[in-house]
Amino acid sequence: MEKWRGKFAVITGASAGIGEEIAKDFLKNGINVIGLARRPELILQYGEKIVGEGYGKVYAHKCDVTSLESIKDAFKWIEEQFEVIHILVNNAGILKSLKILGDEDCGDKINEVIQTNFNGLVHCSHEAYRLIKKSEDYGFIININSNAGHRIFFPAPGLSHNVYHGTKFAVTATSEIMRQELIMQENDKVRVTSISPGVVNTELFAKAGHASPTNFYGNVPSIKAEDVANAVSYLLTTPYYVNITELTIKHVSQK
Ligand code: NDP
Repeated sequence: MEKWRGKFAVITGASAGIGEEIAKDFLKNGINVIGLARRPELILQYGEKIVGEGYGKVYAHKCDVTSLESIKDAFKWIEEQFEVIHILVNNAGILKSLKILGDEDCGDKINEVIQTNFNGLVHCSHEAYRLIKKSEDYGFIININSNAGHRIFFPAPGLSHNVYHGTKFAVTATSEIMRQELIMQENDKVRVTSISPGVVNTELFAKAGHASPTNFYGNVPSIKAEDVANAVSYLLTTPYYVNITELTIKHVSQK
């Protein structure tokens, strides 16, 4: 972690949940955080309280990752302000419960999930890589994937997050594609990792219309956003030649 002190990390969806905890860990470890979200004021609210000797600085910019224009605007601002970055954490994501085959009028929901979880990740990676490469320093792209990116869960009748699954399977594939693209470009300074948490107790479920993960899945135990942040921090402690390509995290009793 020490070797990333003073570097610049962009975290999408840093205004809540897992992204917020990753940002807090980075700041406490001396990494400067540029948080992107539709509610950037929330990032500044907690970030400006994390001040101390050796801590990183917090910056925030409004960005809606469903919009290519918004992503381009955000990275243009980042380049003007900081010139280069070193880390991208693709974390912004949403969940919607719907049936592709059967639900009426779910086209907008489908688009929103795909645009947030997949298009957003790909476009942010494209924009961020340009600035990571420009630094000529070591870099990291960390994709917050999900257990849902590796196997299909149909938790209960009527509760289907199948488009979510589709986007997360795409994150699994895209993470490996990006890793191999870097090998083909002989760029061994930048690593790509996909982190796949199981159920985490955040607002994700409430926003999908379910009171809690328990309400969504039945009696499934959840881990905390801090546990995912710890895994991200662990990645940054590994030597530059080590690439943990995929990391899966579950509650000890989750199937
Ligand atoms: P939260 O709902 O707590 O946080 C989601 C974050 O994403 C918020 O900061 C939100 O910010 C941001 N976001 C959502 N839509 C957009 C958008 N269009 N543009 C920019 N930012 C956006 O969810 P989690 O912390 O749980 O989820 C974070 C990631 O972790 C997601 O990718 C999710 O799929 C993944 N994950 C979550 C699990 C869980 O059980 N909770 C399990 C496995 C993976 P704002 O609203 O301000 O824009």
